[in-house]
Amino acid sequence: MEVILLGTGGPRPDPRRMATTTLIRLGEENILIDAGRGVMVQLSKAGVPLGSINTVFLTHHHFDHIGDLYDVMLNSWLHGREDDLRIYGPPDTERLVNTLITQVYDKDIAWRDQGEPTFGGWKPVVATDIIPGPVLDTGRWKISAELVSHGDGLDMSPAFLARWMCLGFRFEAEGKVIAISGDTVPCPGLERLAEGAVEARLPRLRGPRPRARPVVLLGALRASRRRQPAHRRDGPGRGGGRLPLERAASPPPIGQVVAWL
Ligand SMILES: [Zn+2]
Repeated sequence: MEVILLGTGGPRPDPRRMATTTLIRLGEENILIDAGRGVMVQLSKAGVPLGSINTVFLTHHHFDHIGDLYDVMLNSWLHGREDDLRIYGPPDTERLVNTLITQVYDKDIAWRDQGEPTFGGWKPVVATDIIPGPVLDTGRWKISAELVSHGDGLDMSPAFLARWMCLGFRFEAEGKVIAISGDTVPCPGLERLAEGAVEARLPRLRGPRPRARPVVLLGALRASRRRQPAHRRDGPGRGGGRLPLERAASPPPIGQVVAWL
């Protein structure tokens, strides 16, 4: 199992870091967390077959995390994706994806679907709105979501927050756990994502207090503690010991393989 940081930048264009996207490779399977600026270019650089991308999880709907989602949908198709592309994200994900398919790129899709039959016809994209809790269990790997707190001290109106959700994901496979969140500050949800994980391997990087940026926690599951995290909404006073959370003060360069697990 391998984790590759395809992008670690933010909203402002930075050719050295692109925008947030993380890739988990598990054998022939390639799972994307977010789809920020440059994701398909970065996948090409990493030597990942673009047609092999069929699963995407979105942490939240900031444009530096979903800006190139259209490119994932279209270029995975053009490069031979055989299955539906499944996209999971916070509430409103289905509406956003369907808007891209039916209103923004509908003519482009029709053009290539009907006018360029060598592509083999449109391969559907299926979006699913999710909430904290178990998300997917393929038998080979499973993923669950937790509500996490977005950084930068946002003080938004209740009306906005009713439409807003930021998720982190806990990925489990081969007795290992990877906890991934985007733009997240330390919070109970982040700790629950990493529950049972030991031997965090992302080095603590020195530097000034960071703005919120991708957080990737890696570790082996302690067998005696291997269990599903409690799926509770954020709140104060959660029990349990502190986990060895490691935050990326200055995220590693794009394309860096964080660790072999
Ligand atoms: Zn954000």
